[in-house]
Amino acid sequence: MRIAAVAIINPKQTPMSKQEPQIRSKNFNEVGLGYTKEEAIAEAKRCLKCKKPLCVAGCPVNVDIPTFIAAIMGGDFNKALQVIKTKNSLPGVCGRVCPQEDQCEKKCILGIKNEPVSIGRLERAAADFGQADTPVQQTQGTKEKIAVVGAGPAGLTIAGDLARIGYQVTIFEALHKPGGVLVYGIPEFRLPKAIVEQEVESIKKLGVDLRVDQLIGRTFTIDDLKKDGYKVIFIASGAGFPKFMEIPGENLNGVYSANEFLTRVNLMKAYLFPGYDTPIKKAEKVAVIGGGNVAMDSARTALRLGAKKVFNVYRRSRKEMPARLEEIENAIEEGIQMEFLVNPIRILDDGNGWVKGLECLRMELGACDESGRCRPVPIKGSEFILDVEQVIIAIGTSANPLISTTTPDLKVNKWGYIEANEASGQTSKEGVFAGGDIVTGSATVISAMGAARKSAEAIAEYLEKSKSEEQ
Ligand SMILES: Cc1cc2nc3c(=O)[nH]c(=O)nc-3n(C[C@H](O)[C@H](O)[C@H](O)COP(=O)(O)OP(=O)(O)OC[C@H]3O[C@@H](n4cnc5c(N)ncnc54)[C@H](O)[C@@H]3O)c2cc1C
Repeated sequence: MRIAAVAIINPKQTPMSKQEPQIRSKNFNEVGLGYTKEEAIAEAKRCLKCKKPLCVAGCPVNVDIPTFIAAIMGGDFNKALQVIKTKNSLPGVCGRVCPQEDQCEKKCILGIKNEPVSIGRLERAAADFGQADTPVQQTQGTKEKIAVVGAGPAGLTIAGDLARIGYQVTIFEALHKPGGVLVYGIPEFRLPKAIVEQEVESIKKLGVDLRVDQLIGRTFTIDDLKKDGYKVIFIASGAGFPKFMEIPGENLNGVYSANEFLTRVNLMKAYLFPGYDTPIKKAEKVAVIGGGNVAMDSARTALRLGAKKVFNVYRRSRKEMPARLEEIENAIEEGIQMEFLVNPIRILDDGNGWVKGLECLRMELGACDESGRCRPVPIKGSEFILDVEQVIIAIGTSANPLISTTTPDLKVNKWGYIEANEASGQTSKEGVFAGGDIVTGSATVISAMGAARKSAEAIAEYLEKSKSEEQ
């Protein structure tokens, strides 16, 4: 049930954003309710309409924030959505999952003395209530053939951008569903699959040929695609390779990487439990290790699978947690027990190869680096055991080496990420570009989209130049 229904709001009144989060229940339906139309209009009215809006520069894809907010102010959600869509092809997604507090909202002038305008929630309202001109189904473009590897935010964005300007774009996606992390990682209760499907459909309508179950590096190599006539290949395969802690006990039954845990739940529909079966072992007491969005998603998912006690173990303090503020607040409100300044050192065996506990050490913060991030230092003799039967490790991911090892002349850096020019995405291999997490390492949806957008422009330029050189 909606808690807040607020009339007119000015900068001095309590902003809508202060009244969130509104948690519906611990089920697999979407949890954050978003604004009603009236609330969105009221929140939009807080915008100061700055002459030089800093918020736009804070957005990696430069959405014209003041114009879409002005449209909402006037109750025109269709116009707001049209404005956003000229720069961002996934507004319903970004309105829900972007770390606005570190981007556009961080730059909002109102934030100096008050709460910044809730730009993210307004973007979501535009996507939820607005109707953009429905794209008419187009056939594939007539310009050069372009292959995109991976249908996550980066792949979908570049495919849409290049199809719009007439290129024949084909996406090769390894999984049976497009969306990347948006479908296999971020849970339904945070980002409904229907929203992603809708946004994927509108990209397909631009004439993009989307082929699923195509693992590049196995089904075809990058060189096979070149031989098949693709003039440019854009690699957007993400960074989905799990990292482990390398502590004793990680091979025990009941230990999952967050990626495996979330993929099984999301793709096997365990979020509809008990309506659907799931191959995940259900546990009553779970520890999730890590402090990012992935850890929050795993902890809250474990709760929804029926766990009675879920600990979140993080070696720094709450202040240093990289997860979105809203996810941390929601996790705490739902009952996740935060264990800050705690580092796991061993997973205990019950004698039959299953987890029976997690041995940890308490930490304190030591010297800080230039960015103000402080090193966690173990407190001697502070060992203790968390009584759990499942451990989910969410301490980050890395690049899957499949593409780099099957494409010998493609340079990668020491961590295995593809080396690509920051402005264009051009790699060491002629005609091959890359962007998103496969270049930067695990980052954000909007940064992957921003890289793809820049690369789309560079690819169009590259192809035009190649054509004129051939003539
Ligand atoms: C659980 C979780 C929660 C997150 N929460 C947030 C959040 O709240 N906000 C936020 O901004 N960011 C969040 N992130 C990070 C964000 O989702 C990623 O930064 C973003 O999805 C990267 O986009 P991408 O297109 O580069 O890669 P991905 O989304 O990883 O997509 C890559 C695609 O390539 C496919 N692929 C991989 N290898 C191959 C191959 N060999 N052949 C063909 N296809 C291949 C994959 O199946 C996948 O579909 C989260 C990440 C996770 C895991």
